[in-house]
Amino acid sequence: MPSKCELFVVRDEKGPILYAPLKHLSARLNESAIAAVSRRLYGKPLSEEDRDCLRLLEECGFFEETELPVNQVQAPVQVTLFPTDGCNLRCRYCYAGAEKRRHVMPLEVGKAAIDLVADNAKKLNYSDFVVSFHGNGEPFFAFSLVQDLCRYAHEAGERVGIKPKLSAATNGVMNDEQLDWLIAWFESANISFDGTEELQNRQRPMADGSGSFPYVHKTLKRLNDAGKSFGIRSTLTASSVEELPKIAAFVLENYPRCSTLHVEPAWEAGRSLVTGERTPEAESFIQKFIEAEELLQGKIRLVFSAARAENISLAFCAVCRDSFVVTSEGLVTSCYEICEMSDPRACRYVYGAYSPEEKRFVLDDEKRADLHRLTVDNMPGCRDCFCKYHCSGDCAAKLLGLNPPEKHAGSVRCQITRALTLRQIQASLSKEPLNEEENNHA
Ligand code: SF4
Ligand code: SF4
Repeated sequence: MPSKCELFVVRDEKGPILYAPLKHLSARLNESAIAAVSRRLYGKPLSEEDRDCLRLLEECGFFEETELPVNQVQAPVQVTLFPTDGCNLRCRYCYAGAEKRRHVMPLEVGKAAIDLVADNAKKLNYSDFVVSFHGNGEPFFAFSLVQDLCRYAHEAGERVGIKPKLSAATNGVMNDEQLDWLIAWFESANISFDGTEELQNRQRPMADGSGSFPYVHKTLKRLNDAGKSFGIRSTLTASSVEELPKIAAFVLENYPRCSTLHVEPAWEAGRSLVTGERTPEAESFIQKFIEAEELLQGKIRLVFSAARAENISLAFCAVCRDSFVVTSEGLVTSCYEICEMSDPRACRYVYGAYSPEEKRFVLDDEKRADLHRLTVDNMPGCRDCFCKYHCSGDCAAKLLGLNPPEKHAGSVRCQITRALTLRQIQASLSKEPLNEEENNHA
């Protein structure tokens, strides 16, 4: 396996930080120590002072080679099912813009997908397989299908002798029967919710224009009280980003058992092109994120998806690892956001379909091979970025679309990613002995 010693110099208001992402190592150094590191890396002569200053870094392993991550593709043991593309909400920034569509997945398709991952899990000796419900619509809008597929996942689990894990991403607008089902059958749930009554009603209205807050609030309260594992996903627009600390305070006060508050800047696509909802400025997002994080004091984890210093990988998501997402029309896509053939990007990301004649999924190996290349090691634009093994080139659908990975040119998200990843590195620095005052020698 190829290995490498990769070091970056990242700067903040206190000066330079030497950062080895593959080893999760970081150290605050002064400029002369950074110059000594550079001389060592480029094989230039070292003075006695250089050697003294490098000794501790060597002992900590900064200069050791580390195996590079690989993009491991294997038969899927997780399926994400999109039961329907219909939805009961009209969120102003929805990427899918579900309105007139009303496809419902044929039961046969859902069952075949579940069988496929259950069988793979058995072959690969996994202790579980995962069935997730998601959508370019609201999964619980096709509730009886969701019920049938939950039951079937357990039947398949019994057949192969492995337990299924069920999870759902939902807008949380559901009746009591649906809520009871969610609590009884699902391991975990992610609820899309914009965080305050005013924002939720404005940004995520019901199809008839009325407010959705009372329904989602009730769902979140029930999940919280039931001790269920759940997270909240909020989208921030240019007009709502300033409210992030208020959103965090509201969530903490009302749903204290929420494990994760996941916030993302709205992306200008889908319905936002009609409603005019804009992506927030990176500076505002960063500043409000920090304020919200301080307010939450770790009681609820605040997450922006691309800032993840703990992660080491070549890919931001499973888009280049045969992510197995099955749409209500029986298409197999690698991307949650590219799920119908009318999307111009479908020719890359939709890589198969269910064949009712053959009663199986027929996949396109050429497309799979093309998708496997969407990894950060093929993105020269990310080569010198200290976040490259963490953010891993970010979301391919948004940043590349149909472009080859070599054309990756970053986005407004990179500024947020770098600032928030640096914050994570700074937090880890205070825990490392090398960075205690007495050792900050160089
Ligand atoms: S490519 Fe982007 S939009 Fe698609 S699944 Fe991955 S993160 Fe989501
Ligand atoms: S350049 Fe942007 S997308 Fe690439 S690794 Fe850095 S932050 Fe991520």
